Amino acid sequence: MLVIGSHVGFNKDSQLVGSVKEALGYNANTFMFYTGAPQNTKRSGIDDGLTLEAYNLMKENGIKLEDVIVHAPYIVNLANKTDIDKYSFSKRFLKEELNRCELLGMKYLVLHPGSHVGQGVEVAIQNIADALNEVLEGSKVIVLLETMAGKGTEVGRNFEEIKSIIDKVVHKDKIGVCLDTCHLNDAGYDVNSFDKVLDEFDKVVGLKYVHCIHINDSKNPCGSHKDRHENIGYGTIGFDSMIKIIYNDRLKNIPKILETPWIGDYPPYKEEIESIRNKKFNDKLKED
Ligand code: FE
Ligand code: FE
Ligand code: ZN
Repeated sequence: MLVIGSHVGFNKDSQLVGSVKEALGYNANTFMFYTGAPQNTKRSGIDDGLTLEAYNLMKENGIKLEDVIVHAPYIVNLANKTDIDKYSFSKRFLKEELNRCELLGMKYLVLHPGSHVGQGVEVAIQNIADALNEVLEGSKVIVLLETMAGKGTEVGRNFEEIKSIIDKVVHKDKIGVCLDTCHLNDAGYDVNSFDKVLDEFDKVVGLKYVHCIHINDSKNPCGSHKDRHENIGYGTIGFDSMIKIIYNDRLKNIPKILETPWIGDYPPYKEEIESIRNKKFNDKLKED
């Protein structure tokens, strides 16, 4: 079955209930959320009453708890140790975030590996792995390393870097990968031949590590290292290739999450999900 949803909000008043309601409004059967704003680390306490209410709503509507994804905020950077205060803060915040995920009953937390900020990839990979080994000790939640576009000094811009991090992580059952189609394209992988990309991933890392896919078209050509998401069918990947990726048999049952841009002040997820389910491009989404 196609498991598809989008990034949704999570605010302190309605918490998971609000997230589920938003997802249902898009006719989604999963969703991804940040436990607060994506850009900052301000977080409030989890209300168990709201969580239980959300569970009931999910059950009634066929959303499985294990398909729901949490995303860590962007400013967590485990790659760079030159500012030791920032590195320590990132570790501490991530540990708290894993606790929040556990309180909410969430299985997966997506994490950007980080940026090395001039220290070099090798040092960065060791820093990331050291931090992960610390925070994953005793964790019930699985951290999914996201494949990155290679913007600036981002680590995780190819499968080899992801593999090097996983190799150094002690608890292999607590680590996985989130593929992002825009990032793969921008990193230089030809997602138009997606089976070849999966072959490559399987050879280097192992497909069993993939537990989430961010489905985004890209504003930029393959290998551009830009990371600017585009609505499905409106970018350089194109509708047909996106459909082939989304319906690829090897990724069946793996949650697919849209992180495509809003159109003005409107989140287009209901329309995009519908066009994906119908396999029919919606050319009315954007009037250019
Ligand atoms: Fe991400
Ligand atoms: Fe992503
Ligand atoms: Zn991105």
